[in-house]
Amino acid sequence: MFADLHLHSNYSDGTYTPEEVAMHGSRYDLGVLALTDHDTVEGCEEMAAACSKQGIEFVAGSELTAELNQNELHLLGYFLDTTNAALLEAMGKFQNVRQNRICEMVERLNKLNVPLEAEEVFKIASCRSPGRPHVGRALVQGGFCKTLDEAFERYLKKHRPAWVPKFKISAVEAIKLIHCAGGVAVMAHPGLNRSDDLIPELAEAGLDGLECYHTKHPPATVEHYLELAEAHGFLVTGGSDCHGMNKGKPLIGKIKLPYEHVRDLKRRSEEIRQGLDSVTSQA
Ligand code: AMP
Ligand code: FE
Ligand code: FE
Ligand code: ZN
Repeated sequence: MFADLHLHSNYSDGTYTPEEVAMHGSRYDLGVLALTDHDTVEGCEEMAAACSKQGIEFVAGSELTAELNQNELHLLGYFLDTTNAALLEAMGKFQNVRQNRICEMVERLNKLNVPLEAEEVFKIASCRSPGRPHVGRALVQGGFCKTLDEAFERYLKKHRPAWVPKFKISAVEAIKLIHCAGGVAVMAHPGLNRSDDLIPELAEAGLDGLECYHTKHPPATVEHYLELAEAHGFLVTGGSDCHGMNKGKPLIGKIKLPYEHVRDLKRRSEEIRQGLDSVTSQA
């Protein structure tokens, strides 16, 4: 049995509904799917129901944007308790930051004589966790750019004129937050961050795993992170990072993670939860 542990839905910047994600998962013969929307777990209930209908095992997750020593990195949380109050409160804050940032990006665009309205972006996003892809889609829909790529190249990429930096939780705090919600903390797509020097500090902070398999990791990168995982005793995960249709074909199905890694993650989550219980019973 195989898993895809990195998937986005329209609860953040993916274009598929959770039902559509589950439907595509079953088409590619995936037995386990994790939903990892940016800064939210809102889609998890719907996704759990859709997976159960398809006979797919579901893992509740999220992808948090964090920072360490001024480097942005993405942390995946798996087997999260999606009702955990601290997690939901923190995510609510991240979502507010995201919504305010949309308004700031639109203001910048307006100053560049692009008369886009924030309302348009929020209508396209229609979720609490909007991001730059929604601004990009609004730019295309409004006829200001021909493609999403052009929108990022001209306006939205880091240091381009409509780019606005985003508040990020510290990676150490993010790992704590994931653990407190009973979850397992994994560094997403380390090959895209080119920041291996952060890994010892993340290990110190309690990082549990590395996303060794990712659509944008060529085979040599996969090998490199498998070796690093082994050296640090990290768990190994993988996922497509599918955001919906991509150049005519979704990315889901590109990564097929063997089930043994899901079993290891589950075991780690149980250990984390037992640790939380013993702290509570001592208090
Ligand atoms: P944000 O979280 O608002 O900063 O937006 C980051 C998201 O934008 C990533 O998760 C990707 O889904 C998407 N993204 C980043 N760079 C590009 C790009 N060059 N073209 C299309 N989408 C991108
Ligand atoms: Fe994204
Ligand atoms: Fe990411
Ligand atoms: Zn992602």
